[in-house]
Amino acid sequence: MAVKVCKFGGTSMADGNVMNCVKKIIDNDKDRKYIVVSAPGKRYSGDIKITDVLYECHKEVAEKGSCGAAFALIRNRFNSIVRELNIDFDINSVLDETEMRINAEKDEDFTASRGEYLSARVMAEVLGAKFIDAEDVIFFDKNGAYDAEKSDKAINEAVRGAEKAVFPGFYGRGANGKVKTFSRGGSDISGAIVARAVNATLYENWTDVSGFLACDPRIVDSPKRIKALSYKELRELSYMGANVLHSESIFPVRKANIPIHIKNTFRPEDDGTLIQPSVYYTPSGNTVTGIAGKKGFTVIFIEKSLMNYQIGFIRKVLSVLEDAGVPVEHIPSGIDTMSVVIESAALKEGKLERILQGIKEAVAPDTLRVTEDIALIATVGHGMSSSVGTSARLFKAMAEAKINVKMIDQGSSELNIIVGVKNEDCDNCIRAIYREFFGK
Ligand code: ADP
Ligand code: ASP
Ligand code: MG
Repeated sequence: MAVKVCKFGGTSMADGNVMNCVKKIIDNDKDRKYIVVSAPGKRYSGDIKITDVLYECHKEVAEKGSCGAAFALIRNRFNSIVRELNIDFDINSVLDETEMRINAEKDEDFTASRGEYLSARVMAEVLGAKFIDAEDVIFFDKNGAYDAEKSDKAINEAVRGAEKAVFPGFYGRGANGKVKTFSRGGSDISGAIVARAVNATLYENWTDVSGFLACDPRIVDSPKRIKALSYKELRELSYMGANVLHSESIFPVRKANIPIHIKNTFRPEDDGTLIQPSVYYTPSGNTVTGIAGKKGFTVIFIEKSLMNYQIGFIRKVLSVLEDAGVPVEHIPSGIDTMSVVIESAALKEGKLERILQGIKEAVAPDTLRVTEDIALIATVGHGMSSSVGTSARLFKAMAEAKINVKMIDQGSSELNIIVGVKNEDCDNCIRAIYREFFGK
């Protein structure tokens, strides 16, 4: 029997009317058995996401001992949701208890998780489904990684006998017994965890766009929809900023080869995008599948004559970064040169200066230069390795748009070309590459 796990994002939970659309979607297909929900998101541009309000609540608790004003916003929002849904549900008792626990626990992750908790409680009521608290079934180990074995078992026990069940996304229980959240956008990971635990035939990810688009629709107006992409392409694009799906959400489903279908809650009849395990994936025939970009990187450029003859040179440089506890994104290298690309956020509080000093001491470079405020743009597609002249087209498009290339890295997977440009050139660069390969 087919079993579908459906994750609904923030805009799909934004108000009572959209939640009614969600109910229709679930009622339309009996295979849609397990539902994972986000906290209510924005209802209109300029609106505020419930999770952001909860982070404000936590600040208020930390500063004043309890949350008042910020929690009033949460209370109003959930009261209007229940009113719009016209259901008989005592949301105020749940809110009272939630506010008490937020004030008592004074814990950021716990507070942030309450948006998902509350929307799952409401959605379970709307659907007449069992509510399963993520705190009881999704577990992290002592290193903070999600514990697949323990979670799979608990999820299967919890759903046994339930016709339908609703789970809050975004959080689980840490090894210390306390609520722990994933990083922002993490309900996508929760959906994938449930899909894998119940061995779903499909993981449907319902959002506010009709699929994975060839680039960010906030940068290019109405980009083309990608009909199908592979797990690998998804990983490259989401890691590099296509945040329609959290970049870690493929890991739980990849092992079980469960496809992900991105669908639009507001246009359920649209086809969306199917993300397929590599074994089923058939290339689209396009050279480029998609483009994504991410700002805020720092490049450390190191030059030393005859670097390639010095055994252990790269290791010594990387050891300095390892000792500083800084993850490295890319290491483009030449004969006498190498660069290290690092997320700037990891270099705060004097870390960059300490790293530069460490590199000087470790390898005595001829030149050591730092370029900050770099954006990385990934052009991704399985078709790139087999078509001649892809990089030439890409660089010509950038040159015509008068964008200066600061760094180039062609991934060893031959699945992507990554270019580094100034942060301020990022959006223009994405537009130029899009025009070249998708003709707009
Ligand atoms: P949800 O709340 O449903 O999880 P998100 O806001 O996390 O939704 O993700 C959907 C949003 O991702 C879209 O509204 C869109 O603005 C943005 N986005 C960025 N890059 C892409 C892309 N390549 N394709 C589609 N959407 C994208
Ligand atoms: N509500 C959380 C966030 O805003 C998680 C999610 O929406 O996936 O990041
Ligand atoms: Mg999301």
